[in-house]
Amino acid sequence: MGQIKKSIDLEKIYGLSLKLSKQDREDLGMRIPVNIFVQDPFIAQRYKQKKKFGIEPIKLDWEPSWGNGPTSSRVAVVDYNMDTDILASPVKWDRKKKKFIGTTDPNSFRFHNVNVWAIIHNIIAFFEDPYVMGRPIPWGFNGNRLIVVPHAGEKKNAFYSRRGKCLLFYYFFSGGVPVYTCLSHDIVAHETGHAILDGIRPHYFHFSSAQSSGFHEFIADLTAILSALRTTSVRHAVADILEKADGQLWEAQVISRLGEEFAVKGSEETYESVDRNYIRNAYNDKTMDQIKNCWIPHDCSEVLTGALFQILAEIIIYRIEKENESAKAALWRATQHLNRLAFRALDYCPSVDIQFEDYVQALIRANEIAYPVDTHGYLEIIKEIFKKRGIEKIDPDPPPKAVSFTWKYDLESIASSHTAAYHFLDDNREILDIPLNQDFEIADIYYTNKVKGAYERLPREIILEYIWNEAITLRGNDFGEFQNKKVPLRCGGTLVFEERGNLLYWSRKAGTKPKRVRKIGNERIKKLLHYIKLLIAADKIRLVPAEALQHINPYQPAIEAIQDGGMLQLEITPEFLNPTKGLVKSNE
Ligand SMILES: [Zn+2]
Repeated sequence: MGQIKKSIDLEKIYGLSLKLSKQDREDLGMRIPVNIFVQDPFIAQRYKQKKKFGIEPIKLDWEPSWGNGPTSSRVAVVDYNMDTDILASPVKWDRKKKKFIGTTDPNSFRFHNVNVWAIIHNIIAFFEDPYVMGRPIPWGFNGNRLIVVPHAGEKKNAFYSRRGKCLLFYYFFSGGVPVYTCLSHDIVAHETGHAILDGIRPHYFHFSSAQSSGFHEFIADLTAILSALRTTSVRHAVADILEKADGQLWEAQVISRLGEEFAVKGSEETYESVDRNYIRNAYNDKTMDQIKNCWIPHDCSEVLTGALFQILAEIIIYRIEKENESAKAALWRATQHLNRLAFRALDYCPSVDIQFEDYVQALIRANEIAYPVDTHGYLEIIKEIFKKRGIEKIDPDPPPKAVSFTWKYDLESIASSHTAAYHFLDDNREILDIPLNQDFEIADIYYTNKVKGAYERLPREIILEYIWNEAITLRGNDFGEFQNKKVPLRCGGTLVFEERGNLLYWSRKAGTKPKRVRKIGNERIKKLLHYIKLLIAADKIRLVPAEALQHINPYQPAIEAIQDGGMLQLEITPEFLNPTKGLVKSNE
């Protein structure tokens, strides 16, 4: 009786529990331990690391909506195999005991299903934490639940589909042994990273350059690296390596290598371009020069992933050498710092057509706002690394001073009403380079509640994103079947205000009007056309009528030019496969 009463009471106070500290929630039994694989058991076995990186319990914030599946308010697992057309029964949740039933055997599909669900949950909680984004992260589609299919069929692949509102994880056989992508922390985190970025900046789903497509891969890979470091066993193992290697993070391949499952030497399906036993390595010195004529999203992404990994490595060395910290403490602090900056920067990124330099400027501004006094000189370390990578424009533009804001508008009403936000933008068109008579849309408005260091609250931020398109006609034989078709030049901006009304940041993507921004707009058009020509020359793009996209095709993801009304939209289903082979959409 007492037990039952306790569980009812807990549900009642669930709302209040969100205000409690982690420790209090734990004491009240509101944080539930769930076992996950820290590393794909297949990889762990290959490197004889099974002992080190086995199963680890992670604690998740319980919510009343947890149920069979597993299902929760944001994620639902549906164990459906598309090859065999078999729908497995959902894992049962015991509401009284607050645990999943029959999940002790790690080889069982039930364990798999809870594993993938728990990893995704943990990553959502990480992004929403006040230490990181400090706000609920929406999905990039309508609906509250992301559908997760842990055994979607036999294929060397896993991917996020916005149209399907799902994450699909496949399995394949290596030397007769099944390899389940839903057991790979790397792959699950990477795909979740795609889904989360799609919620944060939905218009990045439409590509306008190799960099904008590579950016999605970068955030997905960074999510995989930083979330691996949140598991105790990986963190301890990396700290041990640092200890032995004088703080050199480069030695820690367990976190810098991504997608090892897909590139197994000697398996029937090898990748001709990959003569190493992993797909991407965050430890690289790739520069912008090397991706000038590259259209492959994964290859482009390595410049940024490499830079962020280098920042992490150098902050660790700084903390060990200058602050006399142990490798373990240095790793912890450097990771926490990077978690905050790398993902917070996303709130400062433009609403459309992200370029690597936009991200770098946003990251620097996020750093300046959170840490006005750069006591450790991190900013210099960061700037130097990006400069060496060839990212040209490092320093952020100052925001327009003349935005008529504080005296004329009520910030609260702008943040809570699209109409008020329209009025505000309309009144400030000229300053914000929105062409007169151009229709524009509000892409998003939201508040953030971020903290820094020892739970010190930062001023609340109000973020306002707006967009519009300019139609560009593809002229000339280079465009083949796409000649004379129209593509959108995506324009818009992001305004970041702090609660008192000061404008903290403005990132914008100008069009060709008004006249004073024409040069910027024309440069952007040049880049867009260059990208489309690269795709056409590489035969990596095909025309698809919008009606044909009613159902997802999980087998051959590609960049598709979708004929929607009068315009072509360039889209891809972000996926994990090495694109030199996997991205090609054949016409057979
Ligand atoms: Zn990906």
